[in-house]
Amino acid sequence: MILVLVVPEKNIKNVVAIKRKGNMLLIKNISKINMLICLILLTALTSCKKNKDNESKNKIDTKGNSMQKIQPKTIFSFFGAPGSGKGTLAEQAVEKFGFLSLSTGDLLRENISKGTQIGKKVKDFLDSGQLVPDELVTDMVQNWLIEKKETGKSIILDGFPRTKEQTQNLIDIINENLPEYKLRVIALDIPEEEILARLTGRRICSNKECKAVFNISEPGIKDGGKCPKCGGTLIIRQDDKPEVIKDRFDVYKKNETEILDFYKSAGKNIETLDISKLNKEEVFDKFNNIL
Ligand code: AMP
Repeated sequence: MILVLVVPEKNIKNVVAIKRKGNMLLIKNISKINMLICLILLTALTSCKKNKDNESKNKIDTKGNSMQKIQPKTIFSFFGAPGSGKGTLAEQAVEKFGFLSLSTGDLLRENISKGTQIGKKVKDFLDSGQLVPDELVTDMVQNWLIEKKETGKSIILDGFPRTKEQTQNLIDIINENLPEYKLRVIALDIPEEEILARLTGRRICSNKECKAVFNISEPGIKDGGKCPKCGGTLIIRQDDKPEVIKDRFDVYKKNETEILDFYKSAGKNIETLDISKLNKEEVFDKFNNIL
């Protein structure tokens, strides 16, 4: 209930009372001038409430319901070692905020499984844990970004850039083609031992429509078992085999410092999230808190 009292300076007896119960409004002893004041006050109250409603729309629903997070157009570059959880976090942000996400690894694997020209060119690189040539992956990312910018949605790049040259390319692509977008670099920080445990235990669904990711430490997940989401067979990704994991890790380490230094020299702030020992919901909360 809202109660508003308007007391004119000269005539204290002339007290106007307004009571609002739900949709009902009670006004007593009202003169024309006081009526005007009341209308102004009510308009101000309604506008206050509208602002509050809009503010709460910007917050993520704690039950995890899907909603678009309203914020400036942003390209988030997720940076972190293979297995640090970039893909999982991107998936959650897509589902809960309506962001768009591009995993260059997924796009390359899709090309391989469809047998495209690009797929044929890159297969050996992926199988051996080596990076595909900068030019090829940059063209793919540039085309994708230009196609998606019309949506006006915030975008996550999962796995790009991965070299100093790609970092320069990304900054150029944004400046030339998406100047309305702001670039934010989010680094996922996690100790090496934890990552190795994640990668060796990672199992993915072989169903191309599903591609869900699990870990053998989770109940019910085992080699050759069934995907809890779609019933597809769980498999080990070719490049998660122990002999390839080490090479992927070495490639990452070799480029890590160079990329971060390049971002810094280009005046980009690196926002680091310490995600050691956190489950995926806790990682998501950390990300949500910095938005
Ligand atoms: P991911 O799924 O992100 O772990 O990537 C799997 C593989 O795809 C990597 O080991 C590389 O062979 C290739 N790849 C993905 N993103 C890039 C990139 N930005 N530059 C070069 N190669 C990439």
